[in-house]
Amino acid sequence: MQKDRHAAGNADRKGEKRRVSVLGATGTIGLNTCELLALNPDRFKTAALTANRSAEKLAELAVALNAEYAALADERLEGDLRRRLEGTGIESGAGPRALIEAAERQADVIMAAIVGAAGLGPTLAALRQGTIVALANKECLVSAGSLFMSEAARYGTALLPVDSEHSAVFQALDTPDCKHVERIVLTASGGPFRTWSQEQIAAARPEDALKHPNWAMGRKITIDSATLMNKGLELIEAFHLFSVRAGQLSAIIHPQSIVHALVYYCDGSVIAQASLPDMRTPIAYSLAWPERLSADLKRLDLAAAGSLTFEEPDEARFPALKLAKHALMAGGAAPTVLNAANEIAVEAFLDRAIPFPGIAHTVEQAMSRALAELSGIAPDSLEAVMHLDSRAREIARTLLGAAPSRSAGAANGRPGS
Ligand code: NAD
Ligand code: MG
Repeated sequence: MQKDRHAAGNADRKGEKRRVSVLGATGTIGLNTCELLALNPDRFKTAALTANRSAEKLAELAVALNAEYAALADERLEGDLRRRLEGTGIESGAGPRALIEAAERQADVIMAAIVGAAGLGPTLAALRQGTIVALANKECLVSAGSLFMSEAARYGTALLPVDSEHSAVFQALDTPDCKHVERIVLTASGGPFRTWSQEQIAAARPEDALKHPNWAMGRKITIDSATLMNKGLELIEAFHLFSVRAGQLSAIIHPQSIVHALVYYCDGSVIAQASLPDMRTPIAYSLAWPERLSADLKRLDLAAAGSLTFEEPDEARFPALKLAKHALMAGGAAPTVLNAANEIAVEAFLDRAIPFPGIAHTVEQAMSRALAELSGIAPDSLEAVMHLDSRAREIARTLLGAAPSRSAGAANGRPGS
């Protein structure tokens, strides 16, 4: 990953506003990004915005930011979006090709904030622009880390992590080659079930798992935080982003979410990055890098925070972390399969089709079946990644079809019902 200034986009050289596109503009990361863009019209100009299905919200954002182009993933909503943008001069499109077009619009910074493997194609297209990609979509690096990193190097793209822990590591590294780094530790809040017993966790409902103690995030990542799969995905993400071996990476529980990561150096020095848990801080960092953006956010007051505590993660209660570590050590197709199976299992839990421990259980079973069949396939092209991803999803769905459903009482309380 580059840390030098020359990769900071054409706009900086000309002293112009930075052109920014936001893929996944209507999500938690996307909306925080749009808020920072709206607050800094002297520094940023919005190029393209995308969303999955929310035509109304996307049109509202596009008008507010005077974007040039707005694209929805869902083709059926093309007319709806076009009508909402009529007379504004903002171009629009819908469907997979329109998302790629949004990613390919000329921009100095592209925020990649689509959730899950759905972001693979557009994020890869963004990477091939050779400017700056602010990467929130960790699933891209988990599924296709080697491909993404080699494409970033090939196109001279600066890949800036938006995930708070990885932004912290990026800020704490003295040289990008990690020459003097002994190890990197990512912190995890521990999620809503940190103090719950195994029995309590077994009965956890989606509404319990969606109550994150420190961060307001999209549903998928909130469930990943409750299982600790999120931290496992982040270890894989860190492996690709930073020049370290898998064995140099670990996670520690830090319930206050103030210290985001620690870099241990070979001389005994440890550099940690701290801030209040607010994603606008790492987002602002990635939008302005290598400069800084003044952000009117609550400041960290350590005396008010009182004590900062740390503890080892408990892999017996949170087996998803162990599964992700295995995938990291195994490499090859394993992380792609882990990610795909996890996306299916999280959906099934949110749909109340499986209990909370069923998420890790499904991922484990899917991995062992899928890898018996697919381990010879390397995720080194988008086609290979998509093949591994879709086959792993099929296997996970088959397993779920065979899984005993939850009690009728639980199944009746579906979200939104
Ligand atoms: P979210 O669910 O709030 O938003 C997801 C965005 O992706 C929305 O704009 C949605 O319209 C779009 N989207 C969803 N499905 C799509 C599809 N099939 N095709 C095209 N677009 C689609 O998610 P989020 O919390 O903003 O997270 C986004 C990404 O950032 C995730 O990969 C997550 O792991 C990562 N991340 C989030 C946070 C956080 O605090 N929210 C922190 C670190 C990393
Ligand atoms: Mg994170």
